[in-house]
This record gives sequence, C-alpha cells and structure tokens, in this order.
Amino acid sequence: MAKKDIDWSNLGFGYIKTDYRYVSYFKDGKWDEGAIITDDKIQMSECAGVLQYSQNCFEGLKAYETKDGDIVTFRPDLNAERLQQSAARLEMPILPVEQFIDGVKKVVAANADFVPPYGTGATLYLRPFMFGSNPVIGVKPAEEYEFRIFTTPVGPYFKGGAKPIKIKVSDFDRAAPRGTGSIKAGLNYAMSLHAIVTAHKEGFAENLYLDPATRTYIEETGGANILFIDKEGNLVVPKSDSILPSITRRSLVYVAKNYLGLKVEERKVALSELSDFAEMGLCGTAAVISPVGSVNDHGKEILIPSGMEKMGPVLQKLYDTLTGIQMGRIEAPEGWIVKINK
Ligand SMILES: *Cc1c(COP(=O)(O)O)cnc(C)c1O
Repeated sequence: MAKKDIDWSNLGFGYIKTDYRYVSYFKDGKWDEGAIITDDKIQMSECAGVLQYSQNCFEGLKAYETKDGDIVTFRPDLNAERLQQSAARLEMPILPVEQFIDGVKKVVAANADFVPPYGTGATLYLRPFMFGSNPVIGVKPAEEYEFRIFTTPVGPYFKGGAKPIKIKVSDFDRAAPRGTGSIKAGLNYAMSLHAIVTAHKEGFAENLYLDPATRTYIEETGGANILFIDKEGNLVVPKSDSILPSITRRSLVYVAKNYLGLKVEERKVALSELSDFAEMGLCGTAAVISPVGSVNDHGKEILIPSGMEKMGPVLQKLYDTLTGIQMGRIEAPEGWIVKINK
C-alpha cells in the first residue's frame, strides 16, 4: 500500500475528502450491520429531523502511525460511550459500542493510505456523527437515523510549537444549567459561533465560558476543557455538570497521577482564583494541550506566570507523556491503544 501524495507536514486543520466512509442506517427500531462506502454525499428529505430540529450529535478522535509503523486509535471505547450519552439526551437511538469500534477500525483500514507517516506531526482525524433523517414536522424525535464516520488527514495543530494564546471571559453562555453542555451536540457549536466570531474580531483566540447559573466559576472554552497547574505544581481541573467530559482531559488526569505522580484536584474553580495559578491550558483531541498566556476579564488582563512564549513546564511534561503514549514511544495503560489491522 502506498501513502497518498500529500505534503503531510504542511497540512492544516481542514477537510480533505478521503476515499471511504462508514455508514449504518437505523430503521424499524434497529441498526443495520453497517458498510464502507465511497459516496461522500448524503441524500435525505428536506424535512429531515436534523435539518428542522437539529437532532444530531458527533464525536472526534484520531488515528496515528506509531514509531513501529502500526496504525492505532486512542481510546475509541470512550468516544463510543460518549456518543451513547449524547444520543440518549437527544432521544436518538443507542449505537452499540462494538459497532462503533468496528466502524472505526473498518474506516481507518480502508483509508490507511491517508494516515500520515510517523514523525510528520499530522494525524488522520475521524468524525463519527449521527442524525435524524426521516421527515419530522411536529416536534418529536425522528424514527430513522444515519450514523457515519468520515476521515480527514489533519496537520500538526501548532506548526513550530504551541504558542500561548490570549482568551477572553465571554458574556455569552455556551450551555444552560441542566441543558446540553455535557453532550457533544452540534447545537452547542451553533450557539457558540456568534461568540467566537465576536472574540476573534476583538483579537482573542477563544472564549472562556463561566458557569451559566452564577457566572462565577470557570467552565471551558467553546471546544476544549481547561487545565490549571497551581503554584505547588498540582493539576487542577474545573468540575461542573455542564462541561463536556473531554477524553483528553480524563487521560491527562490519569497520566498526571500515575505517570508523573502529580496531585490532581477536580473541583469547582472560581474566576477569582485565576491569578493564583502558575500555568493554564486548553485540552482536546485536536491539539492535545494549547497553552493559555493571558485571560481578559472585561478589560482586566490576567497574565498567566508561564508567559506568552511557550507552554509551562508541567503542562509540557503532561503533553509529552500523553503524545508519547499515543505515538507508541511510552508504554500505554491497558486498553488505551487500539491497533488497526491493515
Ligand atoms: C469535543 C469537546 C472537547 C474535547 O473533548 P476530547 O474528547 O478531549 O476531544 C471539549 N469541549 C467541548 C465542548 C467539546 O465539544
């Protein structure tokens, strides 16, 4: 098998159509067995549930080529479980974990030529998603659904190393109390678009959202959880029912405790505590960790002591350890790395 002729090191984070995608249809109360297909176009009714009432949810994970030349994915069982939680909250059917993982394995194997070579920093991004496809005009859940996984090669999130970003405390909320903040629903992103466009116009890379009920505690950004390192070198992660349970964050918490011997606190973090921390970062599948250099709170700039030049030392250690595990340089905990049979 020959790799595609792509300038891997200069890829951005955009959509490139690959040769194959996985699809499974839900009809008459059950999922079909699923198949790999070539058609990237979806045909459905103009009145489909997803188009009228936004009944959709999604996942994001990556396939990598390791040091030894294997192709692997990282903890796809957690993506499968999270998709089930999202589907349940949106009255969508539950896709079995085994079928999700089977789809991941098949679609990566089919697109193996698009998995970037080890060492380029690029990866194959997988986007599993599910949506209501039959006509729905009275407000109710759809009866038919489509589950798909497409893949797209993506570049290293930060070319030439991760530069700390400036973010702002947003006046918008991303989630309502007891709403959908803890599931991966497209509607959460639709709501965040005006806020992110506004923040970009003002010169900020991201929005820091506060808890929607009291606006005193730190939640997360539009698409990434938040990490803090306190002055004693402990990892502190905000806890809330309206934060999306990031798999990267949960993995970093494990790495901090079991690989680096750090103390970890998962607790509510007040906005007023921001100036007490030594390092701050955002975490998610796309970039693993992006360092934050400053937070603007309505004109008051809070500078994070690790500065605007590079990632702080403890976050860097966390980053190096987790990416080392993903790329096969460091031994992984049982079950974290799932090998694809090419
Ligand atoms: C997907 C997502 C994350 C990151 O989750 P990972 O599983 O680490 O990729 C964080 N916040 C939001 C709102 C998300 O949608």
